[in-house]
Amino acid sequence: MSFAHALPQSLSPSRLSDFQTCPRRYQYASIERIPQPASYATAKGRFAHYVFEQLFTLAPVDRTIDHAREFIVPAVEAILTDDVRADIGMDDVMLAKLVAETDSILTTYFLMEDPTAISSEGVELRLGATVNGAPLFGILDRLDRDADGTLAIVDYKTGGLPNRNYDSQTFANAELYAALCGASLGEKPRKIRLMYVAMGETIERDVTDVVVEARSNSASKAWGRINQYYNDGDFPATPSVNACRFCSYKDLCRANGVPVPR
Ligand code: SF4
Repeated sequence: MSFAHALPQSLSPSRLSDFQTCPRRYQYASIERIPQPASYATAKGRFAHYVFEQLFTLAPVDRTIDHAREFIVPAVEAILTDDVRADIGMDDVMLAKLVAETDSILTTYFLMEDPTAISSEGVELRLGATVNGAPLFGILDRLDRDADGTLAIVDYKTGGLPNRNYDSQTFANAELYAALCGASLGEKPRKIRLMYVAMGETIERDVTDVVVEARSNSASKAWGRINQYYNDGDFPATPSVNACRFCSYKDLCRANGVPVPR
């Protein structure tokens, strides 16, 4: 088959992750552009990210918890669009829960770090560069300049803590962002900080040149396969319990004869 839409011009770490999990998911999301309905968890993530982004638009001295809380009402307007509300069936009870959980996240976050002491080089930083032939693009939650003068990637996570058996996957996106920073800013971050703001825990890892090189190569190979599958007109489905569990294309796949696990 040939596709109605052109191949995307760039590849983000999350779309790369889609592709590596299941090429057919990438086809549906990025080529056919079939919308993925919001869930409560994704809406909550976007809601909290909005509040953190606004907090860091303030001068460091003004980044207090009271000012952070003032961004909750604007977040309702900015994030909870009619489409999102319809997707998750939002009513007043759910809205009150979301606001209370965001407030709790802020309380936890302010115990994790003092944002008045953070030197940030960028918030919601848009980066694009060709890395090993792969046109990468992404938006970083935050890029900090640490006290020792080096850069650190900061990624907020609003879900639970990861299973440590999957550590390599946990850092995969951020390590690709490190490659993207190196190519677009001319300076590689030396640390990655994943802030689990609902859990009060930060998981930190050093960035090594070996890892950045490996992530770059992996993205480059994936981009080559994406081009090949696009020209073939078919991205293979690779169903598995883990891949399909949270995928919104299950019904579509089953209708197309893919044996999606129950
Ligand atoms: S339901 Fe499973 S097989 Fe189908 S696109 Fe999603 S991950 Fe792939």
